[in-house]
Amino acid sequence: MTTPDVPPALLDWRDSSHWSRTPKPCRYCGTDAYTRDSRRKAAHKTCAEQALAQQAADAAEAYDAERLA
Ligand SMILES: [Zn+2]
Repeated sequence: MTTPDVPPALLDWRDSSHWSRTPKPCRYCGTDAYTRDSRRKAAHKTCAEQALAQQAADAAEAYDAERLA
């Protein structure tokens, strides 16, 4: 059985590398989180995904601004 492809903006939260036994303050909201983002930094799933979506939106905006300049 193969793992379905994960869209670039989403992390694979089933992967054990995203989970820890030790809670650490989320890098985004500061509340304790057991989950880790793709850089192994403490981050809630929702916070990390929101940040990724924001990054994607910012990148798209920057691209548009550059294209139209
Ligand atoms: Zn958070």
